[in-house]
Amino acid sequence: MFFEIKDLNVHYGAIHALKNVSLQVNEGEIVTLIGSNGAGKTSTLRTISGLVPKSSGTIEFMDKPIENTKATDIVKMGISHVPEGRRIFSDMTVLENLEMGAYLRNDKDGIKEDILDIYNKFPRLKERKSQLAGTLSGGEQQMLAISRALMSKPKFLLLDEPSMGLAPVIVQDIFKLIKQINEEGTTIFLVEQNANMALSISNRAYILETGEVVMSGNAGELLESDDVKKAYLGG
Ligand code: ATP
Repeated sequence: MFFEIKDLNVHYGAIHALKNVSLQVNEGEIVTLIGSNGAGKTSTLRTISGLVPKSSGTIEFMDKPIENTKATDIVKMGISHVPEGRRIFSDMTVLENLEMGAYLRNDKDGIKEDILDIYNKFPRLKERKSQLAGTLSGGEQQMLAISRALMSKPKFLLLDEPSMGLAPVIVQDIFKLIKQINEEGTTIFLVEQNANMALSISNRAYILETGEVVMSGNAGELLESDDVKKAYLGG
């Protein structure tokens, strides 16, 4: 199995944020975790990345348990996380942000090549390579955050609400980009409140409510489900 979570529980003090969450991602898929505010989406990603400790349960990546692995070692194994709110380094240039994304790599020539690849894919980042990242538009910052994550050459990319705070046309660009990254060989686990868009590019999805997976299935089927429509697709 490429990626599997079994019976994961997470507590923050008395708050039981994740309750026996189980889910799987197959190699090559885009899988989305949908849920409203506070459902536990970010907690799920942060636990996978080793940023939040689990209370119980297992997480396996390429058949190896990672639930007790340090965050930097998880990146080395091939999992990269684009956090909510983008969190690029505002006071660094676009180029410096990309270089930071490669901080665990030693192959200088490979890093240079990958930066050129990113510039080819995102001419806007190339034009702005010396600009301070904090002065980029929201959409450009999201492109940079995703590009920075790609600089660690992930096999598995975790994206936390990439559409947040962006205008609808920009959201479309970001989802196109996510689809393209997937087609180029990266498996993707996406967290979104924008269920419509996310389901339209996903193979499968899980729905999280107050820390519990309440529904899962094929993305196309969920898009047609009356319950999903009512709760997450605006009626
Ligand atoms: P949103 O879409 O609003 O970001 P989410 O689905 O990502 O929500 P989480 O951020 O995972 O949800 O939060 C799940 C629950 O855990 C919430 O009730 C939240 O208040 C709580 N929580 C999250 N982080 C902490 C923390 N560091 N300390 C205490 N409680 C937390």
